[in-house]
Amino acid sequence: MNPQDLSTKQPNTWCPGCWNFFILEAVKRVISELVNEKKFFKKDFSIVTGVGCHGKIFDYLDLNGFYGLHGRVLPVALGIKLANPKMKVIGFGGDGDTYSEGMAHFIHAFRYNADITMIVHDNQSFSLTTGQATPTSQKGFKTNVNPYGEFNEPFNPVKIALSAGASFIARCNPSDIEHTKSVIKKAIQHKGFSYIEMMQKCVTFNLEMNNFDKLMYKIPDNANYNKALKLVEEWDYNSKKGKIPVGILYQTKKPCLYEKWKQSKQ
Ligand code: SF4
Repeated sequence: MNPQDLSTKQPNTWCPGCWNFFILEAVKRVISELVNEKKFFKKDFSIVTGVGCHGKIFDYLDLNGFYGLHGRVLPVALGIKLANPKMKVIGFGGDGDTYSEGMAHFIHAFRYNADITMIVHDNQSFSLTTGQATPTSQKGFKTNVNPYGEFNEPFNPVKIALSAGASFIARCNPSDIEHTKSVIKKAIQHKGFSYIEMMQKCVTFNLEMNNFDKLMYKIPDNANYNKALKLVEEWDYNSKKGKIPVGILYQTKKPCLYEKWKQSKQ
């Protein structure tokens, strides 16, 4: 299988230069590689998307799945997994989608530790609706509905994930497609809930955040909790402050949902 075998005939309506293109390409490469290595069949994958620019990835990937309820990617993904535990379920959400409407699901997903991968396209903006502030927007972000600038500090989602008991947390620079591919591949093969924070540049809204390329640096895979505590705090989601570590920020072994849930063994 070639990555392009996962393409569809849908016209792509992302803005030229949007970093969603990198994420799409990385996902195609991972899935085709896993199929070629005979680890999975194409029919084993099921994708779920929310609502936002990220959600259009559903139209551009020739895979089964469910397209969209705003903020509800994780409950749908969990439902698919419970109905058919053999499915490899991959969720795609935006930062508004996941960290605003979907925050409760996000936190509990780490507690459940179901065998699902969640990829969050974080452009620090509600871009589909022309750029309003999300929970990860930098302080001072000016929008049409907030002309004096966002007055709240941003959430740090990777820090929340670690506090919530995550067994796999990664952050990626999608423009480094090969590195992103290798992280997604490890996430899909992780036993439990794997979460990837994609630093997805929006080239149309929240342009202030488009300086983060030079702040990002790659780290080796990390399994040390104390080191993870430092890594997740290294960047505060405000522009121009601190370095941004990318790679596997933390991975550990924890019982996944099916091992904890007695009914599943009956
Ligand atoms: Fe990408 Fe931003 Fe355009 Fe949406 S608005 S497609 S996130 S560049």
